Amino acid sequence: ISIIEFNGVTKRYGQATAVDHISLNIKEGEFLSLLGPSGCGKTTTLRMIGGFELPSQGSIKIDGQEAGNLPPNHRPVNTVFQNYALFPHLSIYNNIAFGLKQKKVSKAQIENDTNEMIEIMGLQEHKHKYPRQLSGGQQQRVALARALVNKPRVLLLDEPLGALDLKLRKKMQFELKKLHDQLKITFIYVTHDQEEALIMSDRIAVMNQGRIEQIDTPQQIYNNP
Ligand code: ADP
Ligand code: ADP
Repeated sequence: ISIIEFNGVTKRYGQATAVDHISLNIKEGEFLSLLGPSGCGKTTTLRMIGGFELPSQGSIKIDGQEAGNLPPNHRPVNTVFQNYALFPHLSIYNNIAFGLKQKKVSKAQIENDTNEMIEIMGLQEHKHKYPRQLSGGQQQRVALARALVNKPRVLLLDEPLGALDLKLRKKMQFELKKLHDQLKITFIYVTHDQEEALIMSDRIAVMNQGRIEQIDTPQQIYNNP
């Protein structure tokens, strides 16, 4: 079953076409990577799924509803960015609990869900610290925990490991894949790193100049580049 359906989606900024007539079905629970060089339209595609941008043309449906029409609190989607975007003045615990506190969720539920996510991400010993006291990898785990604590059906990841050194990136690739297997949430993962996409994805959409040139399993992409 598809959770997200792109139908003839184009996004223009003035004269420039960032995304050029994309049609695409994303299956519930799959790990889909958007792979391609800088400027090919990956982030714009992701931002339209998140409802941060509207298509100039065409439609994007999430669970049958137009993505751009869903009010922010009703989007079954959360995002993790490359720069983590944590709140510097909030503790790790409160960074992760932040989204739940915006909703009408009981205090007991907030504590339960927040602590559960802290445990899944291995952040127990850091929960009373502040973001600046954590390493890049730890901060990215906090960003993931914060995005996942609401139990979104879709997680959007925009080059989430791009700021990490190679060794840590390899480790986090493995952790992210494990997390995906564990949570059964749809992951849409933007990267310009072909090896990363090949290792992690169920399917890869290869983008170039706003179009999807190829979409297939890593195995097929590797054999027929
Ligand atoms: P990628 O994520 O693959 O690097 P983007 O989706 O960020 O690509 O950008 C695709 C194209 O759209 C680029 O040419 C970029 O300069 C342009 N673009 C993206 N966002 C904007 C914007 N807000 N205003 C104008 N042009 C933009
Ligand atoms: P506020 O809503 O003003 O943030 P809370 O009572 O939710 O106040 O939290 C007070 C402090 O206690 C916060 O800084 C938070 O980090 C910490 N805290 C609250 N609940 C827990 C918990 N279950 N585990 C760890 N720390 C907690």
